[in-house]
Amino acid sequence: MNLLNFVAQYPDEASCRVKFKEYRDQQGVVCPHCGGTSHYWKHDKESYECKKCGKRQSLRANTVMHGSQLPFRYWFIAIHLLISTKKSFSAAEFQRQLGHNRYEPIWTLLHKLREVMGRRDEIYSLSGVIELDEGFFQQKPLMMKRKNH
Ligand SMILES: [Zn+2]
Repeated sequence: MNLLNFVAQYPDEASCRVKFKEYRDQQGVVCPHCGGTSHYWKHDKESYECKKCGKRQSLRANTVMHGSQLPFRYWFIAIHLLISTKKSFSAAEFQRQLGHNRYEPIWTLLHKLREVMGRRDEIYSLSGVIELDEGFFQQKPLMMKRKNH
């Protein structure tokens, strides 16, 4: 996917959020409390509610975006850059390009994506055409345990 296609497909925050929810629904949402796999979608709360235990999780919970306040679109743009350029760029540069005022959350965003990407290197090197793919958004059940640091 080139930059023009990307911008056309993800012109705004809403389109990214819709796509992200699509990814999550495709993969199946798992309840971190009881392991339930059936959920109601609570539109007003932007979260999933487990049909079994009633606990809620936000759209971003237990994914690479867990706990992030940054726009979905930032994540999409970063993923696009990471897989399309195959070159490293600094968090400072990315922050500048986004016009975002704080460095730390941008650094965290890139760090988390690179972590996910590192685990997927083999897959990437095997596939010819790389697109924004759902691999980045797979649920990370272990993340709950690592939340403390
Ligand atoms: Zn549950």
